[in-house]
Amino acid sequence: MNIVDPQAALDYWKSKTSIDPSKFAKLNARTKAKSFTVAKTWNENFIADVEASIGDALANGTSAADWATRFESILSSYGGAENVGTNEFGSGYLDMLFRTNTQTAYQAGRNSEMFSAEGQARAEYFMWSAIMDDAIDDICEELDGQVFPKNSYDAQGLTPPAHYNCRCTLIELDAEDLKDGGYTLSYAKDVNTEDFLFDNRDNLGLI
Ligand SMILES: [Zn+2]
Repeated sequence: MNIVDPQAALDYWKSKTSIDPSKFAKLNARTKAKSFTVAKTWNENFIADVEASIGDALANGTSAADWATRFESILSSYGGAENVGTNEFGSGYLDMLFRTNTQTAYQAGRNSEMFSAEGQARAEYFMWSAIMDDAIDDICEELDGQVFPKNSYDAQGLTPPAHYNCRCTLIELDAEDLKDGGYTLSYAKDVNTEDFLFDNRDNLGLI
């Protein structure tokens, strides 16, 4: 089930634009998903170099810890944190920056594979799967367990991440799984995806 194509993740990453945090703050959720920034920084060259370093990490399967070392060396090439606009970048922030961005890229890569001709031939349906704990978001809780046909245009826009820190995934189902599970299909057009962080149809080149 965990089909991850590093090239697809990388393609998604390369489609992002790096911008400074003040411009980033003014974007809507979906445009934010197509952009990259580093907090408390004014230096756009620095942001672009950090973006490229995450792309390298995606291509090479670099760990968060090794990427943090690379980040520090980029930072020193700019003369340190105070030269790019902040006193320091905490390890918690760096970890969040790396994990959020790499996970979104892998998710995007997985989503494009899942809805490709090959992915549709392998399994025609998908089920939304949320982690049902105290941190669950309302929309994700509602979607959990619902099954949609992959060939529906509306369903193709219904993919995680729905919001920041969304931990939902999609489980592929074929016709036999659908029958065995006794699942009924839901209509994606009934789901309000307006505030979703990510519209997979952008990723698929459909809009
Ligand atoms: Zn979610």
